[in-house]
Amino acid sequence: MRALSHPSPNHGARRAGQVPRLIVLHYTAMEGAAALARLCDPAAEVSAHYLIGEDGRLFALVPEDRRAWHAGAGAWGPWDDVNSVSLGVEIANPGDAPYAHRAMMTLASLLADLLARHRLPPSSVIGHSDCAPGRKSDPGPRFDWRGLARAGLSVWPEPEAEAEARAPAPAPDPGRFRADLAAFGYTAPVTDAALLAAFRLRFRPGAAGPLDAADMALAVALARRWPVDPGAARA
Ligand SMILES: [Zn+2]
Repeated sequence: MRALSHPSPNHGARRAGQVPRLIVLHYTAMEGAAALARLCDPAAEVSAHYLIGEDGRLFALVPEDRRAWHAGAGAWGPWDDVNSVSLGVEIANPGDAPYAHRAMMTLASLLADLLARHRLPPSSVIGHSDCAPGRKSDPGPRFDWRGLARAGLSVWPEPEAEAEARAPAPAPDPGRFRADLAAFGYTAPVTDAALLAAFRLRFRPGAAGPLDAADMALAVALARRWPVDPGAARA
């Protein structure tokens, strides 16, 4: 797919020779044109590797071997400098409306290309809210994670297909829930409430109330099927 070159000055070297291990998805929370200007403004000190407009146009802002400034404070798996181990993709969306079909089509093409070229598994595609729980909520509850997973471009737990679905539902246990989610990648040091909110934002949008058996079952499925690679940080 053809990307329009629109260089941003906002980038640096990846620390310790790191290479992309994750792809972090964001919404712009503003119109694509305004986001393009902001992501290229030296005074804003923010950027991403790619921006996808509402019309599906793809802009390349920062070279993939450079460290773009999109994730900020947070963690995923063994990594606490997410910018050094990730590629950032901004998608034009206000945050409270459906994503434009053309933008999602472009995102699918881009992710397929990035996953193949960087030899990354679908589980490496995460949201900003996954690595910065309690602080960020993008790409938000309107983002179609399930559709991406169906295309092999992310993951979606289906506990009903798992053997444990025939076992009694696990009782709500915040400690075990946290341990299972950490095995999948949620390692940012946040409160139980912030962790549950971030998890539900992606995997159970609309769910409310205290931790329940459905949350527990999904966390078990994530931990077992897609454990984050604990050795990757040393590579
Ligand atoms: Zn973001």
